[in-house]
Formats: sequence, structure tokens, C-alpha cells
Amino acid sequence: MDARTNLFGLSREQLVAALTAQGEPAYRGAQVYRWLYRKRVRAIAEMSDLPKPVRDGIHDAYVLRWPDVAERSQSFDGTVKYLFRLQDGATIESVYIPETSRRTICISTQAGCPLKCAFCLTGIAGYQRNLKVDEILGQVATVMAEAPARDQGWNVVVMGMGEPLLNYDATVAALRVLMDPDGFGVVPKRLTLSTVGILPALEKLMKEPVRPNLAISLHAPNATLRRELMPIEAKYPLPDVIEAAQRYPIPRGGAVTYEYVLLRGVNDQPAHARDLVRLLKGRRGKVNLIPLNPAREIPFGAPTPTAVDAFCRILADARIMVSVRRPRGQDILAACGQLHLQDRAPAAAPLPS
Ligand code: SAH
Repeated sequence: MDARTNLFGLSREQLVAALTAQGEPAYRGAQVYRWLYRKRVRAIAEMSDLPKPVRDGIHDAYVLRWPDVAERSQSFDGTVKYLFRLQDGATIESVYIPETSRRTICISTQAGCPLKCAFCLTGIAGYQRNLKVDEILGQVATVMAEAPARDQGWNVVVMGMGEPLLNYDATVAALRVLMDPDGFGVVPKRLTLSTVGILPALEKLMKEPVRPNLAISLHAPNATLRRELMPIEAKYPLPDVIEAAQRYPIPRGGAVTYEYVLLRGVNDQPAHARDLVRLLKGRRGKVNLIPLNPAREIPFGAPTPTAVDAFCRILADARIMVSVRRPRGQDILAACGQLHLQDRAPAAAPLPS
């Protein structure tokens, strides 16, 4: 394996330090930063405004590496699911989701996940490790590079594998570069971090100079049921999570989203919806109902369309902002953890390139 450090993934400060260590002025670091994250070149040789000796100096100590795409599969609805194989063999997923008015990239922050939510395949599959900054940014860079050119902004959602707030340092370092106008240039309100509510980390995130939009994985209207579905409830209880989310400084134009995966007969009844109204009434934010994406390994069923409708109506009638997530890429198992698991079974049809 190449012992050289990956240039891709370094912060502006680290790049400035790296270049000054080679005897170059500080502005060279900022130049390299823009090549890496705004122009997103794939080779040091492409950094054309750097003199050749500077490029050679960088090349001696660093590589420029994005994670390898092991597999891509495209759904009939245009959704493309990526499986990346990392340097140590760990695999992670990302999803590209084109829509009429916007397009979205869903990224992972851990290989696997330690939280073991009862309905989530990533949790069922277990936990491997935290991702590094280059592995997080590399997912975005790859998907953006491969997407057809369109006159549309990007949404990025940190809703793939893993719990981002359990990998705080690498996740926040990546978010900084993603939201930097000199970096990927993703508008903060269009970058959403989804979390179960790891409270100490959430408090820390609130104090960051630039913050993403926030989504909270709720999934139950009371602590008893939430604890059955999400073991983390024992450590970070529902009322505290909501209280923290209410204090979170949302970027201009954004809104806190409460995500609620509907599981047939378990948390999708009218009584649950009424409890949810009581829990959220008078608070800012909106609810996103997510009909379960079922899979053989998941011990729950998808809600009936009637149940989804009824649940949604109860919230809407109580003047709670609510949306229902349309299933995307179901034919390619694009929901959380599904590709990764399938990789251990027969492979999905790869996308012709
Ligand atoms: N750990 C973070 C981010 C990853 S999960 C979190 O929990 O928020 C992103 C979202 O996908 C969560 O709301 C999660 O509950 C949801 N999800 C997981 N498995 C799902 C499934 N099988 N069907 C539908 N949504 C699912």
C-alpha cells in the first residue's frame, strides 16, 4: 500500500502547513485547497497554476485519492446507489437522488453503525469503524463528478450508514469543506445532518461557526416505544433530545426535521399520531414520515397506505408541518444499509459505464 498521505481530505490549515513545510508561501495552500474541493481535480498534475517543482514536491509526499467505486446500480427512477470499497476493505454506501427541482446526495459517516435501531439494516449488520474525512468527502466528490451536468444546486444529506455525531471530528471537518464557498459550496440549509441525538455532540455542533441543517430521528412519540426501537433512548432520552433540537441554531431558510419511520402496527396507529401531536405541538420544525423500506432481515412490515394517510392527516389537522417520503430506488435496495448487505450476497446488476 502507498504510504504517502492523502492530500484529499486535508483542511485549509493543514494544506497551508504542508506547503509551508515545503518552503512555499501560505497562499499555495489555499490554491491547492481550491483545486481539491472547488474544482475537484483527480490528479496533482492537473493543478495547472502551480509551478512544476511545487507539484513535484507535493507528489513526493502525498497522493490524491478518492474512494474506489466497487459497484453502482441505477434505479428506474434515476436514483443511483454507490458502493465504495475503502483502503482497508470496508464498504460503505452513498445514494444519488435526482428530482425535478433539486438533486440530493446521501452520504455515510461510519462503516456500519453501533446504534442497533431495530428497523435499520446498517445496525443489524453491525459496526466496523468511523470514516475519515477523505472517505466522507470522497463520496460527495465522486457522485458530483458522475452526475449529469444540470443547472441545479445540490442537497447533501448525512443520512447514510452510521451516526454522524459518533464520528464528530471527521464529520464536522468534512461539513466545513462542503459548506465552504471555496470548497464544495453547498449552502448550509441544503446540507442536513441526521442524528438520533447524541447530546454532548449536538451541544458541540451548536457552537460551530457554520452549522448544517438538522434532522432528528424520532420514530416514536414516547420514551417506552422509542426505547424498544432505538436502544440509544436509554442514554439520551426523548424529551432532552427534543429540547436540544429546539435550541439548535438552524441555518437561514432551514428547519428542524423530525424523522419518523412508520412500522406497520408498531408506531403507525392514530393513537401514536395523536401522541406525536402532543409532543411537538407549538414547537418549531416539521415531521417527515418515512414508510419503512422493508427487507428480509428487518423484523417489521411497511405501513399500509391507509395508515400513512391517516397518520399524516392527524398531524396536518393539528397544524404540524408534515411530509411523507416517497420511496426512491426501491428496485435497487437504496435504503439504508441495503446495498452493503447485498454485497455479501449475489451482486446487483452494475450500471453500464
Ligand atoms: N444515524 C443517523 C443517520 C443515519 S439513518 C440517524 O439515525 O438519524 C438516516 C435515516 O434513515 C434515519 O431516520 C433512519 O431511521 C432511517 N432508516 C433506517 N432504516 C430504514 C428503513 N429500513 N426504512 C426507512 N428508513 C430507514
